[in-house]
Amino acid sequence: MALVDYHVHTPLCGHAHGEPAAYVEHAIAVGLSEIGFSDHAPLPAGMREGITMLPEETERYIAMIERVRDEHRGRIPVRLGFEVDYPLHDTFDRRYLDDPRIDYLIGSCHFVDGWAFDHPDGVAEYNRRDVDEVYAAYYDTLIELANEGRFHIVGHFDLVKKFGHRATRDHHDRIRRVLMALARCGTAVEISTAGLRKPVGEIYPAPDIVALLFEMNVPVTLGSDAHAPEEVGYEFARARELIRGAGYRRIARFEKRVRRDVPI
Ligand SMILES: [Zn+2]
Ligand SMILES: [Zn+2]
Repeated sequence: MALVDYHVHTPLCGHAHGEPAAYVEHAIAVGLSEIGFSDHAPLPAGMREGITMLPEETERYIAMIERVRDEHRGRIPVRLGFEVDYPLHDTFDRRYLDDPRIDYLIGSCHFVDGWAFDHPDGVAEYNRRDVDEVYAAYYDTLIELANEGRFHIVGHFDLVKKFGHRATRDHHDRIRRVLMALARCGTAVEISTAGLRKPVGEIYPAPDIVALLFEMNVPVTLGSDAHAPEEVGYEFARARELIRGAGYRRIARFEKRVRRDVPI
C-alpha cells in the first residue's frame, strides 16, 4: 500500500512553520511511502505578502528541497513541486513551469474576480455575493485550469465550500466539464484532508464528486495541505477509505512529471 502526501508547504510562504526535514520525519513516522513539497509559487507584489515566497526565493526553495531529499535518500522519496495559482500562473517565471527539476505542479484556484475567497479575512464577502454565482465562477475557472493541461494535479477541488457556504443550485454540469478535461489530459485530482481542519469539516472533494471522478476515469492522489510538520498525512486513513469506497485501487504518483499509478 502506497500513501503519498503531495501537498506540503514550507516557511518560505510566510504562513507555515517547521523545517522541511521535520515534515519529512513526520511522513516517515506516520508510515507514508513518499512526500512531495508543493509550496506556494510566487504571486505578484501586492498579492503575495504572507501568502507566497518571493520570486527571488524560488531557487532557494528548490535547493532546500533537493537538500532534504539527499539527506533522506534511502528512507523516503522526497518530490519537488509547486502549488501554482490559476489563473495567475502566467505571473510565475515561465522557466519554472517547464523546469525539468520539478516533479509536479499542483494547479489551484484561490481567487475569483481577484477576491481571495478562501482567505479568512475575506469571508464576509460571501454574504455580499450570490453563493451560486461564486460556485459557478469558481468551477468556470477550474474548467479553464483543466483545459490548460499544464498541471499534474488539481488542488483542493471544491475549496469554495471551505467556510461552509453551500450552493443551492446544482453545479454538476460544470464539474463534469472539469473532469472530462482532466481525464483527457491524465491530470489527477488531489484528495485533500485539509477540509477536515476547516469550518466545512469535510474532505475536498465531497463524496459525490469522488464517485464522479471514478466514473469518469480521473486519477487521484493524496494531499494534506500541511502548513506544520504534524499535519503531514493528516487523516489519510479517512481519505483512503473514501477513495476505496468509490472504487479506486490505485493512486497517482509523479516523478519528473511522469505519472505512475501505485496500489493503495
Ligand atoms: Zn498555504
Ligand atoms: Zn491551496
